Amino acid sequence: MSILVVGSVAFDSVETPFGRVEEVLGGSGTYFATSASFFTDVQLVAVVGEDFPEEHLDFLRSRRVDLGGLKTVPGRTFRWRGRYDYDLNEAHTLETQLNVFETFRPELPQGYEDARFVFLANIDPELQLEVLKQVKRPELVACDTMNFWIEGKREALLKTLRHVDILLINEGEARQLAEEPNLVKAARTILAMGPKTLVVKRGEYGVLMFHEHSVFSAPAYPLEEVFDPTGAGDTFGGGFTGYLAATGNLSEASLRKAIVFGSVMASFNVENFSLNRMKTLEYPEIEARFRKFELLTEFEGLS
Ligand code: AMP
Repeated sequence: MSILVVGSVAFDSVETPFGRVEEVLGGSGTYFATSASFFTDVQLVAVVGEDFPEEHLDFLRSRRVDLGGLKTVPGRTFRWRGRYDYDLNEAHTLETQLNVFETFRPELPQGYEDARFVFLANIDPELQLEVLKQVKRPELVACDTMNFWIEGKREALLKTLRHVDILLINEGEARQLAEEPNLVKAARTILAMGPKTLVVKRGEYGVLMFHEHSVFSAPAYPLEEVFDPTGAGDTFGGGFTGYLAATGNLSEASLRKAIVFGSVMASFNVENFSLNRMKTLEYPEIEARFRKFELLTEFEGLS
């Protein structure tokens, strides 16, 4: 099954201890769509300005990304500027320019309203809800967000969350959203806001999934070289949701496997700036790293 995603398509300027890039291809929708496209077809709903180069659109088309819902309008494309210090788990936002997203009112192209899998990538929660309302009968709604919206649009975000099945956020944001420092208590609070499943991304420490009464923990892949964590969360979301949509299986066992596919995709993405690693990645490499994850967590049970 294909996935409908709404999210940002952006120019990113990023500084890490290992280098810097200016105005490169980025955006939550871009990272998500590219990552998910390794597993299934993707329909991207977003907006860019007239300054957005054809070359980036060609790249998305070269993946299995349908751009029927991507509008080009007069004005400037969304821009984000961020910095990472030696603790690569924490992004410091230096500047967010919403630009053409400020006035974007999405209208889904014909056929998109039948989407069964919907991913609300990190973007204004009002926009997330507007897209969701146009989808007739989604089977699975997953959602990502960040501190910018938790602080700036809390009420709208809480409204959106009532319609979400799976929320994926990072650890600090989970605490901030729940207004609770203990992660287990924060998870309980968030699960009372609407989502049935909470996936907490913990950077180099891996992922925790709270699902009904169980907790699942997956490590991050131990990499020697991490250049740029930008997009790790979105590529995780793409692998996670992409696998679920490809199989159509929403059992707990399948959710756990999806977590590992998400972790695999994120581990590749951080190896280079922007979407550079995604551009050279081949599916067999994904399966090979999935197997390495299996070995990473294999241990003998009690006899
Ligand atoms: P992450 O996966 O969390 O590292 O997401 C990084 C991407 O999110 C970058 O490519 C940014 O362009 C995008 N981004 C940053 N801030 C926002 C925001 N407030 N709304 C939507 N997208 C954002």
